[in-house]
Amino acid sequence: MDQSTLYLDYNATSPLRADAKAAMDACGLLPYNASSQHGFGRRAKHLLEEARASVARLLRLPARGPGSRYVLFVGSGTEANNLFLRGCTTGKKIITSSIEHPSVLTTSKSIDPNCIILPVTADGVVDLAALQRVLGSLTSDPVVSVMLANNESGVIQPVAELAKIVRAAWPNAIIHTDAVQAVGRIDVDMEALGVDALTLSSHKMGGPLGAAALVIRKDLVITPSTTGGGQEQRLRAGTENVPAIVGFGTVAHAPSDVSHLAALRDRLESALSDTATVYGQHATRLPQTSLLGMPDVKNETQLIHFDLHHLAVSAGSACSSGKVDASPVLLAMGIDAEEAATAIRVSLGPDTTAAEVDAFIAAWQQLYHTTQDAA
Ligand code: PLP
Repeated sequence: MDQSTLYLDYNATSPLRADAKAAMDACGLLPYNASSQHGFGRRAKHLLEEARASVARLLRLPARGPGSRYVLFVGSGTEANNLFLRGCTTGKKIITSSIEHPSVLTTSKSIDPNCIILPVTADGVVDLAALQRVLGSLTSDPVVSVMLANNESGVIQPVAELAKIVRAAWPNAIIHTDAVQAVGRIDVDMEALGVDALTLSSHKMGGPLGAAALVIRKDLVITPSTTGGGQEQRLRAGTENVPAIVGFGTVAHAPSDVSHLAALRDRLESALSDTATVYGQHATRLPQTSLLGMPDVKNETQLIHFDLHHLAVSAGSACSSGKVDASPVLLAMGIDAEEAATAIRVSLGPDTTAAEVDAFIAAWQQLYHTTQDAA
């Protein structure tokens, strides 16, 4: 990999934005412990509160008053999902979906091996009719965690509708959405979604690694994930990572312009319409994610080919051995394992250009025609 490699894997992580880096550099060498009583500590606290306010504004939350929420800073989206699920599900039935990120799905299963996992439709949308049935079989208020946008297919989930259905049946249910892939790409209004808790992560939106947030209703009772100092509402003790949070706040304050990405994604998908299967095509999707299948060509083969062409894309999923696995999201959508193993994910970002998309299209077509000719 070198600087000439074209990056089309923004759902994995995004390059650090220059303004975020500059804001981080500005605090990097200073002794910024936000709990300290002296001037440096007060400055650090001020920076943290500014970042908190930026995250709240990004989610269209009021700074104070009845609609305001706590923005809790943590180290990653994974940690935020764990803090929520491990912190407020005790004794409650967990309802989640088959397409969640492992930080929700694996965690839910480990807390409650009998948690309820909702199926999805062939287009990758959580099945609300199945949810209705499940709600009717419960005996107490559940905790529901369903993502806002899927990391592999980009399919946007009907979270606001889901929240209404859940509350109609169980008014005191606790509802969480993992919005890691959605925030910064589509408008996210937490109040309008009707959720009690929401996860977002800095590095998916041009901020640094090492900062994320769990945003919660103020009266939500959560067990701390770490105890010690009183940081983050006593729910996540440990000195805050001020530089990373400042970088996160910078991108939350002024999210990248992504208005051109839907047109680029459409350019990509229409150029490949004869040679690719586009998964989730008929559902509402993020403007910059395409999950593409190349018939009969394993995604491992495709990844090697694109790598040789200096194009960074990914398989929907990679297991810990580094070997490419069939995407669990596609399996949940009813695609068989053999076909699922032909899928790769292309995810665009604010800096993606038409020339980069065209380079991908050319490399795709070359591989497709080579393999067709060989068959
Ligand atoms: N949730 C979703 C939907 C994701 O796509 C990811 C990361 O890819 C995460 C959670 C985890 O976020 P993080 O990488 O910040 O731990």
